[in-house]
Amino acid sequence: MHTPIRIDSRFPEMGTTIFTVMSKLAAECGAVNLSQGFPDFQADPSLFDAMHRHMLAGRNQYPPMAGLPELRQAIVDKVATLYGPRFDVDSEVTVTAGATQAIFTAIAAFVRPGDEVIVFEPVYDSYVPAIETVGGTAVYAQLQFPDYAPDWSQVKGLISERTRMIIINSPHNPTGSLLTAADLEQLAALVRGTDIVVLSDEVYEHIVFDGEPHASVCAHPELAARSIVVSSFGKTYHITGWKIGYVVGPAALMAEFRKVHQFNVFTVHAPSQLAIADYMQDASRHLGLAAFYQEKRDFFRSLMADLPFELLPCRGTYFQLASYAGLSDLPDRAFAEWMTREVGVAVIPVSAFYVDGRDNRVVRFCFAKKEETLLAAVERLRRAFLK
Ligand code: PMP
Ligand code: GLN
Repeated sequence: MHTPIRIDSRFPEMGTTIFTVMSKLAAECGAVNLSQGFPDFQADPSLFDAMHRHMLAGRNQYPPMAGLPELRQAIVDKVATLYGPRFDVDSEVTVTAGATQAIFTAIAAFVRPGDEVIVFEPVYDSYVPAIETVGGTAVYAQLQFPDYAPDWSQVKGLISERTRMIIINSPHNPTGSLLTAADLEQLAALVRGTDIVVLSDEVYEHIVFDGEPHASVCAHPELAARSIVVSSFGKTYHITGWKIGYVVGPAALMAEFRKVHQFNVFTVHAPSQLAIADYMQDASRHLGLAAFYQEKRDFFRSLMADLPFELLPCRGTYFQLASYAGLSDLPDRAFAEWMTREVGVAVIPVSAFYVDGRDNRVVRFCFAKKEETLLAAVERLRRAFLK
């Protein structure tokens, strides 16, 4: 349909998120899709039974704005058990339509035009557009290839009078690196005495490998007092399509968060909230996730061992980075596209997570897949690269 309106685009340079681009290309080419991060296996049917039960019981109308008390209670109990602090059920936890909405809402609640927000590159792709939508400016700290650890002295140099927020993400997408308790100490020292809000994206909190603990901001009382911490049930219970997550934080910050949340989504799908509240009662479901994905990581890495990719460390998340510098000179976007079209395996080019498109010749594989999917992908890689 033709529009007579002249559109002065708010975002003339903005393209489509790389996850949509690669998943679409994978579907068009019939490639095994190891690009966008989602499981290709079924979630536990008891979740569906619970959802159905609650629907039949008539729990189908607007839940409270902050989320149903059953789910808020389950979240508060989980956080207290794992990390120590007991957030207030009424004023310190809000159920969100996934982590993406939580992140956008938190940024809109705290960042004003002219404010600066420090993010770490490679940076998850939704943060900067959210910052820019509300008139803020992203300021980039670097996680240095190949171990992707933060350089806190660099961060110190980036903090200014205008810094309103610092966004951290651990376990980290796309690199699979972790922040440690020592990192949180360094961050706490940098923000002490400032009014900087910390937004901590912990959607992979339960996917940490090799016995390492997850260094949650919730477990750091000084940081927790100035932070909004985000998690996502999509990652934890294999239901990325349900788009449901939550934030916790001190009441004063949560009150600001909710001022935006109430007019952004108002509230979130009621039957999902009730089903997840039931499901959370068995802690083994989130506590078992690390071992479940560690097995997949190890399986995928062993399949890849004799291929000419260099596998980078993967300490958490369900993503495996690999350098292909030894086998192609193509830029990573072209390489990812070629892999999808010609090899039949779709991956994410890591330059998509850099504002300047920096290209270290690294791609991201998602291993949240059935064994047969990983085997099929690696079989195609073997055919292409082991002659
Ligand atoms: N943050 C990170 C680091 C992610 O990887 C994702 C999605 N994979 C999100 C946020 C968004 O989560 P959700 O699907 O719950 O919106
Ligand atoms: N977070 C998922 C990933 O990293 C994708 C989520 C999305 O497609 N928005 O692949």
